[in-house]
Amino acid sequence: MSKNRTQLETFAVQAGHYVDPATGAVVPPVQPSTTYARNEDYSLRLDYSYSRAGNPALDQAEKILAELEGGQSAKLFNSGMSAVTAFAETLRSGDRLVAPEIMYHGAQTWFYYLQEHRGIELVLFDQTQEGALEEAVRGGDTKVLWIESPVNPTWEVIDIEYAAKLAHEAGAILVCDSTVAPPCTCKPLELGADIVFHSATKYLNGHSDLTAGVLVTRSEDDRWDQIEFARLHLGNLLPAFEAWLLIRGMRTLFVRFERASANALVIAEHFNNHSKLEAVLYPGLADHPGHDIAGKQMTKGFGGMMSFLVKGSEEQTQKVARSVRVFHAATSLGGVESLIEHRKVVEGPHSVVPGNLLRLSIGIEAVGDLIADLDQALGQI
Ligand SMILES: *Cc1c(COP(=O)(O)O)cnc(C)c1O
Repeated sequence: MSKNRTQLETFAVQAGHYVDPATGAVVPPVQPSTTYARNEDYSLRLDYSYSRAGNPALDQAEKILAELEGGQSAKLFNSGMSAVTAFAETLRSGDRLVAPEIMYHGAQTWFYYLQEHRGIELVLFDQTQEGALEEAVRGGDTKVLWIESPVNPTWEVIDIEYAAKLAHEAGAILVCDSTVAPPCTCKPLELGADIVFHSATKYLNGHSDLTAGVLVTRSEDDRWDQIEFARLHLGNLLPAFEAWLLIRGMRTLFVRFERASANALVIAEHFNNHSKLEAVLYPGLADHPGHDIAGKQMTKGFGGMMSFLVKGSEEQTQKVARSVRVFHAATSLGGVESLIEHRKVVEGPHSVVPGNLLRLSIGIEAVGDLIADLDQALGQI
């Protein structure tokens, strides 16, 4: 089979079928130089001139991500929020931006900032209410519909294909934050999204040792040029070492995600209907209201993210998070190690997340250890 016809999993494992042209190395090198000497005629040797504009490991990482998402082009940033703010630079005063009420709180906080200081019309829709998305998109001259699915940290499922249809009918674009549903299971561009965003800090890297963000576009249009311009001048591209580390992380994306999804399903089923819990929120459960749509758009597993609603007070809920011995009581998600957090405390005083919600990021450890740990922690209340 020719190399360019392999499956995506093979492409990711082989770092985009990388072979170093000079040495034959199967791992891409890191180029730490900030500057690149020119030829005698002052032309550039390759396309590199200065590190704020690009580096070879970045190009390779972007090539892998564009391929995995099925997009024309990818751009990496030094954090997920850098990618969000660079995208936001393409919004103009008066533009209508529609997003869910519950979503990644950092991005939403920035959207509020844009509303207050840059004249952006921010419209939030209740993702639990039928018809709310339609009303928000159609209620004005919407320019951008920004969604995430499943939404963090309550894990309601938004139908990406339907959201794309609505956005396009309104003359808007759809941007999908697919951080918790990486391309090994979900392909928002194929479902109609125009841009897909990830905090690559999470599943894409997977080892909790790197902060990065990525945007992948269906087509290199005028907005994409603005994003490139913003990244160059805001100076927030992903540096060489981090790009290299991300390539290494992505080599195991498919196996990590498969194992995390399998562990999560066992845990969700074990704790569903547990006497100390009001609910387990996980789209992989057959009784989750978004299960069917999630199954349609997450074709290779529902991932490792879920939440527990504890039968008890905020104080008792925190006590469960404090009582774990195998899980780490820490924020973030998508790493190989399992994490638990009291989300409301992490989001701060403005959080709309219920006080009895614990967010779990299930890793790839032995699932029996994770179940025993949660059982003993719940036993403390
Ligand atoms: C973490 C996260 C972000 C922000 O990314 P950073 O890498 O922390 O800047 C955005 N969206 C979601 C869903 C996230 O989990």
